[in-house]
Amino acid sequence: MLINEKILVTGGSGLIGTLLKQELPEAIYISSKDFDLTNENDVINMFNKYKPNIVIHLAAIVGGILDNINHPVSHLENNILMNTLVLKYAYKYKVNRFLTILSCAMYSEKIHNKPFTEQDIYNDKPHSSVFAYSMAKRIMCAQIDSYNEEFGTKYNYLIPCNLYGPSDKNDKIIPIIINKVLDAKKNNKTKIQLFGDGTPIRQFMHSKDIAKIIKEVIQKNITQSFNVAPDTSVTIDEIAKLILKLTNNNNINIEYDITKPNGQIKRDIDNSLFKKIMPNYNFIALEKGIAECIKEIQSKNI
Ligand code: NAP
Repeated sequence: MLINEKILVTGGSGLIGTLLKQELPEAIYISSKDFDLTNENDVINMFNKYKPNIVIHLAAIVGGILDNINHPVSHLENNILMNTLVLKYAYKYKVNRFLTILSCAMYSEKIHNKPFTEQDIYNDKPHSSVFAYSMAKRIMCAQIDSYNEEFGTKYNYLIPCNLYGPSDKNDKIIPIIINKVLDAKKNNKTKIQLFGDGTPIRQFMHSKDIAKIIKEVIQKNITQSFNVAPDTSVTIDEIAKLILKLTNNNNINIEYDITKPNGQIKRDIDNSLFKKIMPNYNFIALEKGIAECIKEIQSKNI
């Protein structure tokens, strides 16, 4: 199906883009060094140069909790600008498939007793720690839905849970904990300190999984938009203890700094639509994925 298709991937140097390249090597991968997607002329030049018929839009300003709290303007403005320009010119250049990645952070800050479904996207406010980033994601969702409604396109988005993976910038919770544990071991420290109180609950997916799912969505011409997450969710404390176990550091204590933010306490997303669309998909088990991540970080630190 993909033989005659020209696929352009923005955000090709990022966490997901790097792994997608292994799955879809025939696509063209773009980073900010090639084109600044907040600049309209650059976006036009990119479409003029490549004239793709499929766009996988991964470029975004993505950060950890402190980056989101300290730089909301950059998260809001740059993401809205990039999304608006890439979508607008994709349509102008007659791109027939457009797929982008939103985030579970965009759902409501209110704690509900059931996971968020795709119908909950616009309910309540997103959590204050990720408000600007999440609003840019909600707007992108509205933009894609509007193109589909007005122009009859079949553009779509996936809404994944939290991701982790080997090429992660070290500003997300799993690599942060791995680095702290490895540092404590190296320097004979008896404890590590983590933000908050360890109780926030998250679903975690290996970024290889989302790369494989993106490939399948494109190959099978799936045009629905849906949440993507495994069945299980874990607390930050459980993740930290798993990392201590996997690095043979059960003697290191975890100390929580409750003066620092927890972030949202729970943001589980409902995966029933995903399971209907991809009933046979098997996620990488958390323990296996984190063990791989530890190896990767260890090999970089040698
Ligand atoms: P990432 O690792 O932070 O990579 C961001 C990518 O965007 C990089 O390739 C970067 O290029 C590019 N980029 C940033 N600013 C740009 C600009 N002005 N012009 C052109 N390119 C620009 O992001 P990711 O984790 O792969 O995320 C990909 C998508 O998935 C994003 O939409 C993100 O919101 C979403 N997502 C991520 C997670 C997660 O936990 N990681 C979870 C849910 C959803 P350079 O390398 O050149 O800077």
